[in-house]
Amino acid sequence: MSNQKNNKQQKKGFMVGIKKVLKKKNKMDISLPYNFKHNIHVDFNSETGFTGLPEQWEQRIKQSGITKEEVLENSETVLDVLKFQDQSTIKGQQLTEEEKNQSQTTNVKRTLNDLISHEDPNKIFNNLEKIGEGSTGLVYKTTHIKTSKVVAVKVMSNIGEQNMKMIQNEIAMMRSCKHKNVVEYVGSFLSGDNLWVAMEYMDGGNLTEVISVCKMSEPQIAVVCKENLRALNYIHGLNRIHRDIKSDNVLLNTNGAVKLADFGYCAQLTEEVTKRNSVVGTPYWMAPELIRGQDYGVKVDIWSLGIMAIEMAEGEPPYLEYPPLRALFLIATHGPPELNEPEKWSDEFKDFLAKCLDQNPDTRASADQLLRHPFIRKACSLRGLVPLVKRAMLAQNEYEY
Ligand code: ATP
Repeated sequence: MSNQKNNKQQKKGFMVGIKKVLKKKNKMDISLPYNFKHNIHVDFNSETGFTGLPEQWEQRIKQSGITKEEVLENSETVLDVLKFQDQSTIKGQQLTEEEKNQSQTTNVKRTLNDLISHEDPNKIFNNLEKIGEGSTGLVYKTTHIKTSKVVAVKVMSNIGEQNMKMIQNEIAMMRSCKHKNVVEYVGSFLSGDNLWVAMEYMDGGNLTEVISVCKMSEPQIAVVCKENLRALNYIHGLNRIHRDIKSDNVLLNTNGAVKLADFGYCAQLTEEVTKRNSVVGTPYWMAPELIRGQDYGVKVDIWSLGIMAIEMAEGEPPYLEYPPLRALFLIATHGPPELNEPEKWSDEFKDFLAKCLDQNPDTRASADQLLRHPFIRKACSLRGLVPLVKRAMLAQNEYEY
């Protein structure tokens, strides 16, 4: 391979890494009410447009690039967004040092008792080969000795109180979701301090890797949307919200299959509680109603799917170039984000995006309605994704060696 091409591949690999870090760093898990807005006033003569702001917030507005004019025009939204962003810090601070440092094994065993198998995973799986890394642990490809089936295992150590609920939720949601477009759950095991979660192995990696190295055509974007809509139609039918739809959480295989993964933020609605208001997810994919702290339902996943469709068309979600605070502000105040070069795309695709990115969740289309949209009828077959998956795998291998 020529030096120039090599450099380009390396840069692409590097960009995938950078984007992953950016997205991970900005992931949020927020749920506490927090209120000291009453001391804050809009003030034209002040530096930021506010007086009475806590020093931290004042600094954050300055760093975010939100202008004084924007503050004066949208003061309530700016405060909502600051409050929204602040709550993640508060939650992190709730744990004492002792709580953070204590050995979590006893707690893990107690909390996950009903969900984990008590067999030793070292005797069930062999030939572990590292294939990925998430915020909670490493992911390996391995062989299930009894069946000779290749599976993926996520191995998590030092599970803190904060991650515990998420992992417990992820296992409970995954094992009760059985659909051809959802990554299949195999089992969970405890080995010393490590929790192993085994699942179906997807040999094509994630959609972010594809997007980073390939240009996708409309029929290819449509088929990925179709497969994800099938998964969402099923999940929403169970009254659940995934709450973290983005390309990192969509896995592919070399047959072109597309499956939804990562159920850590999935929430169950009930007959009594039909809406949620805790704020979780990744900022750039978040629906406006969620950012504004309003009650929300399954339609937040549809918004995120629309953002993911833009990712497939343009390589990254809108506003990724801005710091999270400004991005949240832009999502909450601007209309639906638009494609950079709308003239390049079909009317069907633009209408599909408009239906996903409707600011009003009540009129935003459902997964079922979108499955019947003309854009989805343009979908190619799953085999049409195979060349993209292969190219992404090649780029990934070249970057690693
Ligand atoms: P986080 O859990 O921190 O949000 P994540 O989704 O990137 O982030 P993991 O779910 O731990 O983290 O996965 C890390 C990487 O491992 C994924 O990006 C993917 O490339 C790979 N991976 C995860 N699950 C599988 C699987 N079932 N089959 C194949 N590869 C997988």
